[in-house]
Formats: sequence, structure tokens, C-alpha cells
Amino acid sequence: MVGTAVVVGGGIGGLAAAIGLRRIGWEIRVVERAPVLEDAGAGISLAANGLRALDELGVGEAVRSAARGQYSGGTRTPAGGWLTRMDGALLEKAVGTPIVGIPRATLHRLLREALPAEALLIGYDAGAVRQTAPGRVRVEDGRGDVLEADLVVAADGIGSRIRSGLFPAHPGPVHSGSTVLRALTEEAVDLRTDFELTWGRGAEFGHIAFHDGRAEWHAVLSLPAGTRFPDPLAELRRRFHDWHDPIPALLDATRPEAVLHHDIGELRTPLPSYAVGRIALLGDAAHAMTPHLGQGACQALEDAVTLAAALATAPTTEAALARYDAERRPRSQAVARAARQAGRMGQRLTHPVAVGLRNTAMRLTPSRTATRMILRHHAWTPPRLR
Ligand code: FAD
Repeated sequence: MVGTAVVVGGGIGGLAAAIGLRRIGWEIRVVERAPVLEDAGAGISLAANGLRALDELGVGEAVRSAARGQYSGGTRTPAGGWLTRMDGALLEKAVGTPIVGIPRATLHRLLREALPAEALLIGYDAGAVRQTAPGRVRVEDGRGDVLEADLVVAADGIGSRIRSGLFPAHPGPVHSGSTVLRALTEEAVDLRTDFELTWGRGAEFGHIAFHDGRAEWHAVLSLPAGTRFPDPLAELRRRFHDWHDPIPALLDATRPEAVLHHDIGELRTPLPSYAVGRIALLGDAAHAMTPHLGQGACQALEDAVTLAAALATAPTTEAALARYDAERRPRSQAVARAARQAGRMGQRLTHPVAVGLRNTAMRLTPSRTATRMILRHHAWTPPRLR
């Protein structure tokens, strides 16, 4: 079955959905409210499930060659002791690839380049989305600019206006209790590992090394929503000055204006459906989760491939969307629950006794067991699009 679709949102999820739909022969339009198409984050890690989805979308190779395999590293205490070691080679053996790290801007560019320029419409702020008979959906922006299609994909992110229109009784996103400051270093940094997370009490610092030697770092702090600092980099230097190397060095390698600061939200109340009529919800619009497992974008990529595969094979759009909902909702909501739990046991833990018990349990966990736990989320086989 082929048709026309409007994808609302030009983030990782929306672009991936558009690529998937084009691959099965659909005509697509991506509308993005921002005046330029880009991703505002710093860096991102992609696990095997996300990479496999990208393979199915035809961009896996390009992403792999711009990314860096995360072979070494693990989780540490602020004094530098190791709680777990990451074994990228073991992951590679089990699922064919280590986790990879890539600047978000690069990933976003590679996805954009897989679409024809004329399919992307920027500065279009989608407002009302309405079903019109028979089997058509209408999207309208504030200026009365109307688009009509057989399908609308709502990939408009955590604050999705389409979601709140479809589910007016749903409470929407909530503050997770944490805020994140992050940046890309200005230049290459001499790092001994590809990837690290360090857990203090109510605070996490992590880095991901990139292909060109630069790195992204992030600091997650348990703080009320809206907390902001006059000089974020100075505040982080104050909070992390006595944490192990290379944390102070990463902060030193960063320009103050490069630091981004966002509160972390999540869709704590799961949605009852990812499809309403001829509208499919995808990515953060459907299942915004905390970043503690690095799975939000990977799940959006899984959504994109699953949606395209369902549309390619189901007899009607409605049947395809029912299948998409049935396949994606249980898995993505389980990953979101696991991410919240990982945050509770990691960065958000503050009581010294609980921190001590957790650290002991982690030190005693064999690396094969830790790898098996990771694989629960990473091992995913995409449906074939071709
Ligand atoms: P978004 O990226 O939010 O895109 C939505 C787009 O829709 C935006 O461009 C927005 O401008 C547009 N839009 C909104 N409303 C409208 C409208 N009305 N009309 C038109 N356009 C509209 N995931 C991983 O897999 N690995 C990681 O390592 C990882 N790290 C993370 C670290 C942090 C600190 C955070 C916060 C998240 C992390 N994630 C990670 C999660 C990941 O960033 C998100 O899940 C992913 O980017 C969601 O993509 P999306 O396209 O669904 O939404």
C-alpha cells in the first residue's frame, strides 16, 4: 500500500520516519516549526537496536563511519574507582556492534541528506490536525497554510501539541527531578576511555568520545525545574572540581557559551495508544523517557522502521497503525520504565547507605551479567523494509 504522509517534526524521529516511508514508496512532507533544521543537543550514543534501524533505513553505514565505537570505559565513583567496566568487544560479539558515539549535528545531517530537500518544509508550526472524510488528515499552521495527506506522523517531541489534542485528559510530560548541562569540547581531548559515567550523590558526570577526538560531556543534577546558573560552566567547575580525571579537563576544554542547560522531562503516564485514526505518534511525542539508558532516539528509530514495515504490508492504513501500536507500545514503554529505574539506582540515589550498597552490588556483578542486562534493550531485530 502506498500513500501520502505529513510528518510533523524534523527531529531524529521525524526524519527517520520520513526516510522509512519514502523507502516503501510513500510521498512525504516533513514540517518543522524551527527556522532551520538542526539538532540542538551535543552528542548522542546509539546502541545496536538504533544502528540496526538505521541500517534498514539505508543510512547505517554513513552513521557508522562518522561515529566512534565505544569499546572502553564504564561506571566510576567520583574518586575514580571503577564500579563496572564496559566491554565493547563483548557487545560487538553479542549484537554485532559496540555502542557508538556521534555528534548530534552529524547524525541529524546524515538523516537530512537521505531526504530530498523539497520534502522538508521549515518554519511551519503545525497547529490543528483533523481527520477529514474519507480517510484523509488535514494539518494547518497558524497562518492557515493547509496540508492534506493519508497519514500524519506526529513526531513533534516531548511537548507534542498533537498528542495533547488527541489525548486531552492525559497529564502530559512531567519534570523528572533532574536537569542536564552538556557540551561538546572545543578541541580534541586526551581521554583514556571512550565512554564513562560517574555517579556521585544526586549527580552524574559522563563523557562520550567522538571520531575526531573531541568529546561530549554531560552533568546531570537532581534539581527543581527551572533552576538556572548565571555562569553554568563556573558552577560545574565548583561542583566537580574534586572529581576524578578527566572531568576537570573536559570542563577546561569547553567554551562557556557551548554549555546547554535543559530540564529533563518524561512522559511518566504511558499513553493508551500510539495511533488514533490516521495519526501515528512516534519518538518523544509517544514515549519521552529519561536519558539514563541512552535509548530515547534508539526507540524513535525503532518506531520509524516498524511504522514503515507495517504500512508496507498491512491491507489498510488503519490495520498498519493498529499493528504499529501493538508492536511499539509495550516495548518502548518498558524501556522508558527501565530508564526511570536506572536513574533511580544511579544518578538520583543520594542516601549514603543506599549509595554504598549499590556500589558494592555493582562491583560484585560479573561483566557478563552486566552485559546481559544491557542486551535486554539493545538486542532487537528490525522488520525488513526491502
Ligand atoms: P525531538 O528531537 O524533540 O524533535 C521534535 C521536533 O518537532 C523538533 O524539531 C521541534 O522543533 C518540532 N516540532 C515541535 N512542535 C512542532 C509543531 N507544532 N510543528 C512543527 N514542528 C514541531 N537517546 C539516545 O538514543 N541516545 C542517547 O545517548 C541519548 N542521550 C540523551 C541525552 C539527553 C540529555 C537527553 C535529554 C536525551 C537523550 N536521548 C538519547 C533521547 C533523544 O535525544 C530523544 O529521544 C530524541 O532526540 C527524540 O527525537 P524526536 O524526533 O522524537 O523529538
